[in-house]
Amino acid sequence: MLDDVLSLARANSLWPLTFGLACCAIEMMAAGASRFDISRFGAEVFRPSPRQADVMIVAGTINKKMAPAVRTLYDQMLEPKWVIAMGNCAISGGPFVFPGQYAVVEGVDKLFPVDVFIPGCPPRPEALIEGILKLEEKLTGKRRWPEVIPQ
Ligand code: SF4
Repeated sequence: MLDDVLSLARANSLWPLTFGLACCAIEMMAAGASRFDISRFGAEVFRPSPRQADVMIVAGTINKKMAPAVRTLYDQMLEPKWVIAMGNCAISGGPFVFPGQYAVVEGVDKLFPVDVFIPGCPPRPEALIEGILKLEEKLTGKRRWPEVIPQ
């Protein structure tokens, strides 16, 4: 019972880390602005410190040069913590993968575990909101709203 209450509270107050790596971060910022208003889902409190954040939204390309810093941010987040890989770059390296490439990490799951993957180049803000709903579902075991809203 207490676990259920804690899960519900966590799912409805996911605080993301203020953190963007490339173009997908623009879509993440749009999700936080008035048109898409991610605060409707309790996830608008972007924290500037990893020690205050629950979820890392990896939005953009991870260069190998940047990877140690990303890993450090993840390590500094307190448990429980979750990761959303937003966009093809975060999932697999995206359009920067070709034979012989040496600069890009081919997926953030090479650095640490990922809970939700959101495909797209870039995914739209609605897709990020769907990803947050998926993460909520993972925490509570049930979906807040139906996947397809009847017309
Ligand atoms: S997936 Fe596309 S939009 Fe997103 S960071 Fe990579 S290149 Fe940019």
